[in-house]
Order: sequence, then structure tokens, then C-alpha cells
Amino acid sequence: MSRLARLQAQLEEPLLVSSLVNVRYLTGLASSNAVLLVEPDGARLFTDFRYAERAREIPDVALVETRRDIYAVLPELLEGRIAFEPTVLTYERWSLLAAGGIELVPRRGVVEAMRAVKDAGELNTIRRAAAIANEAFARLAEEPFVGHRERDLAWRMQSLLHELGGEKESFDVIVASGPTGESPHSVPGDRTVEPGETVIVDAGCRVGGYCSDCTRTFVTGELPAGLQRAYEVVKQAQETGLAAVRAGADSKAVDGAARAVVEEAGLGDAFGHGLGHGVGLEIHEAPWLNAEWPSVLTAGNVVTVEPGVYLHGLGGVRIEDLVIVTDDGPEVLTPFTKEPVTVG
Ligand code: ZN
Ligand code: ZN
Repeated sequence: MSRLARLQAQLEEPLLVSSLVNVRYLTGLASSNAVLLVEPDGARLFTDFRYAERAREIPDVALVETRRDIYAVLPELLEGRIAFEPTVLTYERWSLLAAGGIELVPRRGVVEAMRAVKDAGELNTIRRAAAIANEAFARLAEEPFVGHRERDLAWRMQSLLHELGGEKESFDVIVASGPTGESPHSVPGDRTVEPGETVIVDAGCRVGGYCSDCTRTFVTGELPAGLQRAYEVVKQAQETGLAAVRAGADSKAVDGAARAVVEEAGLGDAFGHGLGHGVGLEIHEAPWLNAEWPSVLTAGNVVTVEPGVYLHGLGGVRIEDLVIVTDDGPEVLTPFTKEPVTVG
């Protein structure tokens, strides 16, 4: 059954899909300007001249070519009760539709829930994106770190992802050396990597629009005792979290299993983010592995497992694998070693 047909089968009223990622997921059309109305017995795709030719080829979807400002003309084309995506549709556009007499019903996360469970084709694409990232980490580990600026290393990682076949990065490469690593999402700057510190590298690439995501923490010689211990704790937490991943597992419990290791080591306060997130057409998507998001993992979910410890003034450690959830446990897509790799 096609994605559109599966969506149609669960709708209570027509769904106006405003998320461009969701439009791409349902129709295959990657564009910067499109809206899809999915009705019980059909679908209409609204887009402008720039995408019309490709949109016309999409099976089971009727193209409605509009001017650039699609939402300005939608009130003339739609009527009745229509569901919308409340986390995507802007207030301005909602107001235009409401003023046109459309009865708008919020339906949150409908397509996102479908996207969270990948089909065989999507899984293969993500395996390829992850294999490229994994190889890029292996190559980067052969290169000199000490004396180079964080942004030079980030640029090099970006080049490796490109050379190995990635379409583009999944997100801006993170390289956090020494004290820069006290913040989980720092921006690589002019700081030069020094001996005796950790260097967090977090990177991934896209293949066919699908993302990969991997983090390893390299070391540049003997670490201060606190960081050395943090590395051991994070590695153990990561392996514990990984062991808890399987179809049917409660996502809060998976987060909790890894977090307990960090808490028992007295470092709970230094692990201030969730254990992981889903990965697909977006780098962060459902399901979420954290203490707040109630869900049960399903075979076909693709998630990260990425505990971290961030020590003020000293540096950070994070280890992140990308995995496919199966009935028997995780299929790890990023097998590059988790032992501390000493770089020059
Ligand atoms: Zn990452
Ligand atoms: Zn991640």
C-alpha cells in the first residue's frame, strides 16, 4: 500500500500537509514551495511553476499549479472541515484560511508517526548514509588534530563526507576541543586543538535526502583524571543504552538505563540532554529517547544513542551510534570503535 493510501485510511477529515518534508515523504517531491491536501479518495498538490513539471509526474496526485503565494489562493480552492499541522502552519497562513471560511482542525504528528517507521528502501538508504559517515570517522582518525583549528577539522570532515559519496552534511559538523566541549552543541571556532584533551566530533551526511548521525570523542594524549573517568562512564552508559534498544522497549526506560550509569557515577548533572532521537528525512524526528516522550519503540525506527558528559572548564565526552530498532535488538550502523582513539 502506498504511503498516501495508508494515510488516507486513517484520516477523519482531509489533511492539509504544510510540512515540506512531509510533502516529500508522501509524494517524492522535494521543493521549497508546495502544499498537499490529502482527501479520503484522492490528493491535490498545490505548487508553483518551478515545480509543476515534476509534480505532474507524481502518480495518484492531481497537480494544481498556483502562483507563488499558495496560501493566498487556497481559500478559493478549499472548503469545509480540514485538518492542519499545528506545529508547521504559521499563524499568518492559518488566519488566511480561517478568514476564507474553512473549518480548521489541528491534527498533530500524523505523517511524522508514519515517518518514524522506515520501510526497507528507507533503511537501505540510511545504511548507506551511515556507512559513509562511519568511513569518514575512520579516515579522520588517521589525520593530525593537534595544532589545527576546530573549524579546519570540521571542514576536513565535511570534505571527507563529500568525497565518500554524501550529498551534503546532515547538519553543520560539530568539532569541540578541550573546554569548547563543555557545551553539547558548540560551533567549531578558531580554537587550536592542544595535547591532552578531548575532541568531540559529531557529523553525518545525507543520501537520497536521508540523514546519518555519529559522534566520537577523540583524545590528544593523556587526559586529566576527570575527563578520563568521564570517557569510561559515557562509554559504559552508551553500551547500556544500546543494550536496552529493541522493539517493544519503552523509550523512557531506554533513556533511563543509560542515565542510571551516569548518575551512579555522580555525573548525572553533567548529562543534561536526552539519550537520543529519531533520524530520517530530518536529522531530529520521532521517536525521541528521553525522559519526557512516552513511546514504545517499533521495529523500523531509526534512532541515535548518544549519552554525553560535559565538564565545566575541562571539556566533554559524547559517543553516538545510529541504530535500526529490530525485534532482536539494535542493528548498529556506525561500528567505528568506541575505545578512546588517540590522534596526533
Ligand atoms: Zn550527532
Ligand atoms: Zn544526534
